[in-house]
Amino acid sequence: MLNGRNFVAGEWRDGADWVEDINPSDVTDIVGRFAQARPSDIHDAVAAAQSAQREWAAAGLEARAAVLDAIGRELMARSKELGELLSREEGKTLPEGVGEVYRAGQFFTYFAAEALRNLGASADSVRAGVDVLIERGPLGVVAIISPWNFPVATASWKIAPALAFGNAVVWKPASITPASACALTEIISRQAIPKGLFNLTMGSGSTIGRELAANADIQGLSFTGSGAVGSGIAALAAARFVKLQLEMGSKNPFVVMDDADLDRAAELAVNGAFGGTGQKCTASSRLIVHQPIHDAFVEKLLAKTRALKVGHALEAGVQMGPVVSAEQLSANLDYVTLGISEGAELATGGEALDLAHNGHYMAPAVFLNGRSRMRINQEEMFAPITCVIPADDFDEAIFLANDTPYGLTAGIATRSLARATKFRHASRSGCVMVNLATAGTDYHVPFGGVRASSYGPREQGRSAVEFYTQVKTSYIHAGAAE
Ligand code: NDP
Repeated sequence: MLNGRNFVAGEWRDGADWVEDINPSDVTDIVGRFAQARPSDIHDAVAAAQSAQREWAAAGLEARAAVLDAIGRELMARSKELGELLSREEGKTLPEGVGEVYRAGQFFTYFAAEALRNLGASADSVRAGVDVLIERGPLGVVAIISPWNFPVATASWKIAPALAFGNAVVWKPASITPASACALTEIISRQAIPKGLFNLTMGSGSTIGRELAANADIQGLSFTGSGAVGSGIAALAAARFVKLQLEMGSKNPFVVMDDADLDRAAELAVNGAFGGTGQKCTASSRLIVHQPIHDAFVEKLLAKTRALKVGHALEAGVQMGPVVSAEQLSANLDYVTLGISEGAELATGGEALDLAHNGHYMAPAVFLNGRSRMRINQEEMFAPITCVIPADDFDEAIFLANDTPYGLTAGIATRSLARATKFRHASRSGCVMVNLATAGTDYHVPFGGVRASSYGPREQGRSAVEFYTQVKTSYIHAGAAE
């Protein structure tokens, strides 16, 4: 059993108390026990980070690039081992866990190179004899608060650019996935970095998370999680003018038109809806289906959904792991009951499964004949539940796709370039997928949403520089040379 501790000011520290990390595939398997930080640990971490940051920013580009590259390569080399740990504590299937850790490594190697590409600009001045330089420098200490559903990848796509551009980090991971957080921290702790540059503070969101978000000496705060928590954090940050980046909820539509390849569309819908047990911010939780092919598509969708093998995340051949926790499972089952009471037709799944292992299993659920304003089609469920909403024509499909407060990803299955193009333009979302699942993105391009899904600058790719740096404009009058 693992004993995970906080990493504060360059030292591993015990905590106020300890919590157990339980495998959702088999609740008799205790992954480890993990120290919970005290509020004073946050204070110490931020104080140490402030001085370490100055040293780090002065260390030079190649030193930073080398550290990030080493972290990334180790994550990739150990993706099987660390992916297994991730799957064991979070419940995603082993290939998904391994893939996530490998991807996390790619974030680090990508940003290792980006550290070298933090190029500024120069401009002519409107005043004679004056040169203008526009440079990007670090913010200082950045607080990172991350969710459990991508415990390594989400943290990495924040930590890597933060360090690449010369910042120090204090990280509060989700309480339910501490083992992955400790594993990533252990790798970072062995690098040639100033003491205190990187800090791990585990603990509940409402105490330790809030303490970090309210700290007076952080200059940036990047958060991924629910909208309710995000808006509370935004209020804390706004009161102290802390730079803010929030990635939050979603209700992603996947539109299937009558000219689509229906086999492929059904495959994409099932991948999008049930990958990661539906616990993805990019999950296809609404399937908007054009009437002429409605029945044919639904038949394929149901057949593929019923064929999914649900089971222990580490077992070979399992296609959908358990739900992350007993609370999440109970909330999911409540949504199934709600959908039925709202008049949607439960065509398959939606019940808890009693399997060989004692885990939080449920059968992937498909509702039919949904209407857009049902709560199951407006609220993020974060569950292996999707709902088919029929659409009479293309314009109605576009309207329905945009008919939620969210806007993270949106997908369409069509062979028509004209329809795909119109959908791309009309979609009120941050990412649009054409003949691809709503889940699944690259690491070198911007990621994020609009409306209630995101707030602040985009994450990932070249866009990350906008959040993790601040711009300085210098005016230089050299005078006459002698
Ligand atoms: P939460 O908002 O509950 O938690 C996210 C993080 O915030 C956790 O580390 C949590 O700690 C912490 N936290 C909770 N309360 C507070 C608080 N008052 N102050 C500071 N920090 C706090 O979300 P989940 O972890 O349940 O993650 C699921 C959510 O994340 C979904 O809504 C999903 O859409 C969203 N998400 C969005 C993504 C995107 O890119 N748009 C990507 C992935 C997920 P603790 O674990 O201790 O509660």
